[in-house]
Amino acid sequence: MKNSIASTVYDLIGVGFGPSNIALSIALEERAKSQGALSTLFLDKQDNYRWHGNTITGQSNLQISFLKDLVSMRNPTSPYSFVNYLHQQGRLTDFINLGTFYPSRLEFNDYLCWVAKHFSDQCHYGEMILAIEPVFTQDKIKTLRVTSCNIHGKEQVRETRSLAISPGGSARIPRLFEEFKSDSRIFHHSKYLSSIKQQPCAQGKTMKIAIIGGGQSAAEALIDLNDNYPSVQADMILRSMALKPADASPFVNEVFTPKFTDIMYNNQQVDRDSLLKEYYHTNYSVVDEAMIKQIYSMFYKQKVSGDQRHNFRCLTEIEQVIATEQGIALALLNKETGEKELVNYDAIILATGYERKQHLELLAPLDSYLGNYTVDRNYRLQTDARCQAAIYLQGCNESSHGISDTLLSVLALRSDEIAASLYSHLTQETQEVASLSTASVLEIA
Ligand SMILES: Cc1cc2nc3c(=O)[nH]c(=O)nc-3n(C[C@H](O)[C@H](O)[C@H](O)COP(=O)(O)OP(=O)(O)OC[C@H]3O[C@@H](n4cnc5c(N)ncnc54)[C@H](O)[C@@H]3O)c2cc1C
Repeated sequence: MKNSIASTVYDLIGVGFGPSNIALSIALEERAKSQGALSTLFLDKQDNYRWHGNTITGQSNLQISFLKDLVSMRNPTSPYSFVNYLHQQGRLTDFINLGTFYPSRLEFNDYLCWVAKHFSDQCHYGEMILAIEPVFTQDKIKTLRVTSCNIHGKEQVRETRSLAISPGGSARIPRLFEEFKSDSRIFHHSKYLSSIKQQPCAQGKTMKIAIIGGGQSAAEALIDLNDNYPSVQADMILRSMALKPADASPFVNEVFTPKFTDIMYNNQQVDRDSLLKEYYHTNYSVVDEAMIKQIYSMFYKQKVSGDQRHNFRCLTEIEQVIATEQGIALALLNKETGEKELVNYDAIILATGYERKQHLELLAPLDSYLGNYTVDRNYRLQTDARCQAAIYLQGCNESSHGISDTLLSVLALRSDEIAASLYSHLTQETQEVASLSTASVLEIA
């Protein structure tokens, strides 16, 4: 299809309209009242936005207090708070009666969609950003060219003075499974709901399914298969010895506070790395403690009844994957006993986490201006002097800003730190343009 080129130069284009960029659009709206409105556009590849929508099962709850919504930590009086959402939906009293800080992900998704609707004039859904390229003014890059593609395959090119790249994570597929990407029996947990519906168990047929991984997603899949697919027998395959609980105790939880972002950022990289290592199990390869108890009780009931429907295969390494029409055989090594076994499955769920590399692919045409992709405290990429367009990154700065970076934890504050930096950048640009034109007027005179 033919490209179409828009003539407007935007102040900001956002890659993705998930929580990070929704929070940013709120922060910009707040600042617009005193600092003037910016021309902004956010593009999200999902045509029907949902927050990790393919993973929302009946058991999935928010893993963070609802008070860490898009605004409350910065501006508790904002109309975009979770509490105001509840009030507008007529559910505030009922929610209070629940006595929880952790709403279902179904409800939090609805909250995010409700906020996003307020900004629908600034967002185009069903448009995937494909490339970001430099636009040269003499020898300087002051603006960027953004190419996107909509669901009908139509490409669009736009120009912007700044970018907020917030694409979230992409499914991490272990090397052994890479060659089976097109096999519908092997799927990543990010596609859980739509993929499981296409399996024979959705029609009540018997299936043996392997869940690879020992984190929250793996646990949620096991419970969903147990509760909603009675014809499924599941094996949970883990490298570790046991499911481990997420440490949500209050002192440790301070690792998710804005203060910790400063502690992390102000450290040397070697110390940042050891902090990340120390707190790794607050977020990764861990399961909500209540869910661990639920799973333990499920296994205990199996022992009582003698009907061993599901299995744990702990301390197990997958050595080979052999897919045939009959099924998928996994060659498993028990690291404790050294025993090897070939086990057949009808489907495999890869609850193997996410990686955050998309910004590197999108920014490849600018690679030579971006050094080693470090960001400043306000999440702005450090470019060399030739690139003056501002590029902000959200969700891929864990190594410099800490474990909250991929989560909701500091969104309310981070969005305003970016907004402040962006306004300051655009003001400086305007002043430079004004002083250049004054200089040329003086020269002509
Ligand atoms: C299953 C799951 C559950 C989670 N639960 C929690 C939780 O309970 N608490 C918590 O704090 N964190 C949780 N997280 C972490 C999660 O990363 C954050 O909650 C939050 O979603 C981060 O927001 P984001 O906007 O940075 O990324 P995302 O929410 O991933 O949004 C990114 C958006 O960008 C769009 N996009 C990607 N690439 C492109 C492109 N090239 N062009 C256009 N659009 C694009 C995507 O469609 C998506 O809508 C969870 C993550 C997962 C995967």
